[in-house]
Amino acid sequence: MSGTAPDHVSARLERAQAAAREAGVDALVVTPGPDLQYLTGVVKHSHERLSALLLPAEGDPAFVVPTLERPGLDGSAVESMDVLTWTDGVDPHALAASRLGDPRRVAVAADMPALHVLGLRDALPAATLELATPILRQLRMRKDAGEVAALRTAGAAIDDVHAQVPDWLVAGRTEAEVGADITRAIVETGHAEAAFVIVGSGPNGASPHHEVSERVIERGDVVVVDIGGPLPDGYNSDSTRTYVVGEASDEVRDVYAVLQRAQAAAVDAVRPGATAESIDEVARAIIRDAGYGEFFVHRTGHGIGLEVHEEPYIVDGNDLVLEPGMAFSIEPGIYFPGRWGARIEDIVVVTDTGCEPVNRRPHDLLSC
Ligand code: ZN
Ligand code: ZN
Repeated sequence: MSGTAPDHVSARLERAQAAAREAGVDALVVTPGPDLQYLTGVVKHSHERLSALLLPAEGDPAFVVPTLERPGLDGSAVESMDVLTWTDGVDPHALAASRLGDPRRVAVAADMPALHVLGLRDALPAATLELATPILRQLRMRKDAGEVAALRTAGAAIDDVHAQVPDWLVAGRTEAEVGADITRAIVETGHAEAAFVIVGSGPNGASPHHEVSERVIERGDVVVVDIGGPLPDGYNSDSTRTYVVGEASDEVRDVYAVLQRAQAAAVDAVRPGATAESIDEVARAIIRDAGYGEFFVHRTGHGIGLEVHEEPYIVDGNDLVLEPGMAFSIEPGIYFPGRWGARIEDIVVVTDTGCEPVNRRPHDLLSC
């Protein structure tokens, strides 16, 4: 590999090339998005003008970029590569194809716009295009020490927000008002933005991806608060706690105790060598045995890193064997449509012997 890319960039590019060779793929083409950020540190937006990393399985990488965006790469790791600039009127897909030679199998980033996928297909008529995800997920799933540290920082930041939530969850306020307080705090605790803010009060808590509404919070409401976003380095937080405004009913206490047991048991079961689906089953079996199986309507968790949802998915049917460095959520929930719901979510990182949760807030039903 040519030049002066930082060590971790060179190492990641070389590992991606090795994984491509292993898969029998001749080249990766990676447009702006989390895969590009992971491989090069470059953060850009995809649009109709093609920018892309061209990474052959053997040989030196190159970067295609519109001339007018070339200054934006100053100081980045791609400056150690051949940077191929192009001006409006030139066919950038043909330019990329000429650099790639005569590949048979080309893997493209999953979030590449169709405009560029089809442009590449036309420019490489002899090549088969496929997703780069199976190649790159092997790298991205196993977080290195720097990435684990970033997830810890993100976890501590969102914990700080949850610590303030009881002050804002007051009967008579709307979910949207509480959500605005949370959004502000997410930024104040060091996040680049609030990527999602769910305040699901009463019946809205039974809808796992509810956001906020004008519903007025009432005494006795159970409230699901699921919040997070990226820190400036791109690594994300994601944590859910369930609160009760005033006193919980006996029913709420009983159901919540089952959920708490399921979440803790699943976290306890995480260790190298366990499969992703076995962790899902640990949580699901406890909820099912208590009679609430039909009300746990989603997978137990998802990987997290530069994306809020990425591999590995903690779901039935995923026989992936967990390894140290993998990071994902453990977030079982129980939802009674039209009535109320509850969820508990922590991010955990697999260690050599078990796992380390990056979220440390109490799991009890938190009274406001
Ligand atoms: Zn969440
Ligand atoms: Zn989540």
